[in-house]
Order: sequence, then C-alpha cells, then structure tokens
Amino acid sequence: MPHILIVEDEAAIADTLIYALQAEGFTTCWLSLAGDALALLAREAFDMVILDVGLPDISGFEACKRLRRFSEVPVMFLTARNDEIDRVVGLEIGADDYVVKPFSPREVTARVKAILKRVAPSPVAAPVPSGPFQVDSERVQIHYRGHLLGLTRHEFRLLQTLLAQPERVFSREQLLDHLGVCVDAGYERSIDSHIKSLRAKLRAIAADAEPIQTHRGLGYSYSPSHS
Ligand code: CA
Repeated sequence: MPHILIVEDEAAIADTLIYALQAEGFTTCWLSLAGDALALLAREAFDMVILDVGLPDISGFEACKRLRRFSEVPVMFLTARNDEIDRVVGLEIGADDYVVKPFSPREVTARVKAILKRVAPSPVAAPVPSGPFQVDSERVQIHYRGHLLGLTRHEFRLLQTLLAQPERVFSREQLLDHLGVCVDAGYERSIDSHIKSLRAKLRAIAADAEPIQTHRGLGYSYSPSHS
C-alpha cells in the first residue's frame, strides 16, 4: 500500500487530497510545514510527496531542493499560480510532476498512480531468493544467509547457474558453457578451482553446510537441503 506524504498548509485542500487518495487505497500523512516534512522524510520512507509551493515556512521549491540532497522520493508540486509553473517545469528543482490549483481529486490520484508506476522497480531487478541464497542479477551480487559474497565474475556465474536448477547435476563442460568460456582440456580443471574457492567463501559463512555437492565423474549440483 503506497504511503504518501502531503505537505499543504490549507486544511481544506489537504482534506480533499487525503479523502481522494485513501479512496484509492493509499495511506497518507499530512503536514503543513516544509521543515516538519523534511525532518520526517529524513527518518521515514514514503513512496511519494505531494508538495505545495506556497508554504508558510520555506517555499516548496526550496524544500524540494533540500530533499534532493538525501532522497530520490518522487515529488509532485501543487501550484497556485501560472508563474510558478515555469519554475516547476525547470529541471533544476527535481520534481516529477505538478498540478495547478484548483484541481480535481481524480486528476491528482491519476497522476500519483502514473508516477508510482513509472518509478516502480521492474520485476526482473528484484533479487530472486533460492533457499538461503539471494541472487541479484542486476547488481551481480549473491547473498548467502544474509551475507554478501565477495565473488569473482566466474564464481558468480557458476553459483548463479547451479542455484537456478537445484539438484541438477551439471557436468564441467556444461558449467564452462555457462561461463561463456571455450571448452578445452585445461579449462575443465579450472572449474574445479573456481568451485574450490567458491566453497571456501561459503564455508566462511556456514562451516557446517555443503550447498555445492560433488558427483564423482559427473560434475556438481546445488543441494538446498545441505545449505
Ligand atoms: Ca499554500
């Protein structure tokens, strides 16, 4: 459920926004001062900020500039005057969108939804859990039991390949294939040395576990029950 911070000093406008956003299933928090909003944003995560330009303490523009020093949370401005729009549209402030008062609640909720959709992380970027392992292909990282593994490129690809198909026995040749390395006699044995160093890194985290199993004469597999 997206959590929206509304920064608006006019209670009637804030009420309209709260009502419209809650009707769409959002949770809201309302503050009327920019200073309070910045303090809250520094310690609490929000999915989006709706920020009035004309606030009693500092302007919404200044508040947004300060916010951008520590947060990339999407910001939508509420503007009252046409001459403010030019500044909102200017790129320096770092806002995502704006609406001009008076606005219809439906217009605001539609824009909020559009922004949230735009900034939502794509599903492929999400780390894929596999038992005690978490594979993050985008960052080329694997966590094991909550610890980030310091892996070489080859070790990452090897472990990623094994984790993708638990219990499947991969031959050395198949693993080399996944590394994108040409198969030759010397390289087959290099798989063994990569596995050896990978195992050492896993044992440093869990000495009693043996997630990578050796199958003599066949190759290696990932065994979730030994992880
Ligand atoms: Ca105002």
